[in-house]
Amino acid sequence: MDFRLTEEQELLMSSLKELLEREAPESYIAELDEKHEFPWKPWKALADNGFLGLGIDEKYGGTPADVLTQCLVADVLGKYAFPVGVIYGLGVITIRDIEQFASDEQKARVLGGIIKGEPPVALGISEPQAGSDAAGLKTSAVLEGDEEWVINGQKIYCTLSNVAKYILLMTRDSKAENPYKGMSMFLLPTDTKGVRINPLPKVGWWSVPTCEVFLDDVRLPKSALVGTVNNGWMQLMANFEIERLILSASCVGAAEAAYEDAATYANQRVQFGQPIGNFQMIQEKLVDMAIKIENMRNYYYKIAWMMDNKMPVRHEHAMAKLYITQASFEVIDDAMQILGGMGYMMAHRIQRLWRDVRVMRIGGGTDQIMYNIAGPQLLKKFKK
Ligand SMILES: Cc1cc2nc3c(=O)[nH]c(=O)nc-3n(C[C@H](O)[C@H](O)[C@H](O)COP(=O)(O)OP(=O)(O)OC[C@H]3O[C@@H](n4cnc5c(N)ncnc54)[C@H](O)[C@@H]3O)c2cc1C
Repeated sequence: MDFRLTEEQELLMSSLKELLEREAPESYIAELDEKHEFPWKPWKALADNGFLGLGIDEKYGGTPADVLTQCLVADVLGKYAFPVGVIYGLGVITIRDIEQFASDEQKARVLGGIIKGEPPVALGISEPQAGSDAAGLKTSAVLEGDEEWVINGQKIYCTLSNVAKYILLMTRDSKAENPYKGMSMFLLPTDTKGVRINPLPKVGWWSVPTCEVFLDDVRLPKSALVGTVNNGWMQLMANFEIERLILSASCVGAAEAAYEDAATYANQRVQFGQPIGNFQMIQEKLVDMAIKIENMRNYYYKIAWMMDNKMPVRHEHAMAKLYITQASFEVIDDAMQILGGMGYMMAHRIQRLWRDVRVMRIGGGTDQIMYNIAGPQLLKKFKK
C-alpha cells in the first residue's frame, strides 16, 4: 500500500496553500465573515489559477481530476479558508450533474462561467415540509402548451442562490404515484421573473449565504429541463456521494487548523507557573485530536480511492461522512476547550470554525440519515 500522493497532487496542494496565504489570509477570511460577504476575491483567484476547472471536462475549459485530488483541494481550502472550501464542495454536485445530464447548450452556458469564477450553481431540493424526506418536496413544474414549463413552490436553505446565476431546481409531479419516479430537474436562472430570494440569518457560514426561494408562476423554456422528465431523483443521487465526501474533506482541514492553534496555545499559555501543555490532561486532548485527524484523512483517502476505482460506496461514504463531520467538530470543540476563554472570543478563529463546522452534521444529509443509509446495508451482509 502506498500512501504517498503523486508529485502533481503535492504540487497542486503547495501552490494552493501559497495562493491562499496570499489571497485569503486569516485576517481577510475573518473580515469577510464578520461582514457576511461572499469571498469573491479568493474565489476569482482560484479561478485564475485553474482550481475551479478541476474535474470539469476539457471540452469546456476544465482539467480532468480524480475524486481524491478534489478532496485534497477541499482539505487545503478547509484549513486555510473554510468558507471557500464549503463553496467549492457545494459546487461539486451541481457541476457533476450538469456535466452528466444537461444538454450541450446548458453545459456550454454554465460550465465555462464557473471555470472563470462565477459562483457555483445553487442546489434547490429542501422545502419547508421536506428536509430529510426530500421526496416530500412539492414544488411543481407543469408543461403549458408544448413549449413552456410553469413552476410554483418554495425552497428553503438554498445555499448560494442569492449570488449564483442558476439554481439546479428539483420539482415534483404530484400525479406520479412513486415520488422517486416523479421528480424532475431544471436549470433555473436566478433572475427569472417570479423568483424571489431572501437570505436567512444563521449560526455559521456567514460568508456562504443560505436562502429561502419563492417561485411564483416562474416560466421556463422547455429546454430548461436537465436530463429526462421524472428522472430527477436518480440524477440527483448520482453525485451526492462525491459531494458528501469532498465536503467532509474540507472539515478535516478545518480540524487541523484548530488543532494547530490549540497545540501552539498549549505551548504558550502559562498557568500555575508552567505552559498548560505540560498538563497531561491537555496532552491527552491533543493526542486524541491528532489521532482523529489521522483517521479522518485516511478515511476520505480510502473512500476517494474506492470511488476513483469505480467501487460502490453506498454505506461506506455515509459512514465516512458521519465519522468525519462528527470527529472534526469534536476536534474543534476540544481546541476551544484548550484555548479556554480565548477560544470563545470572536477575536479568535476557533469560534468561527466551531460555528461553521457544526452544520456539516446537518447539511447534505443529517447524522441520522447517514445511519439510516449505512445500517440496513450492514445488516444485509449478515442475512442468511
Ligand atoms: C446551512 C445549511 C445549508 C443548506 N444548504 C442546502 C442547499 O444548498 N440545498 C438544499 O436543498 N438544502 C440545503 N440544506 C438543507 C439540508 O439538507 C437539510 O437541513 C437536511 O437535509 C435536514 O433537513 P431538515 O433541516 O428539514 O431537518 P428534518 O428532516 O426535519 O430533521 C429534523 C431531525 O429529525 C431527524 N430525522 C429526520 N428523519 C429521520 C429518520 N428517518 N430517522 C431518524 N431521524 C430522522 C434529523 O436527523 C434531524 O435530527 C441546508 C441546510 C443548512 C442548515
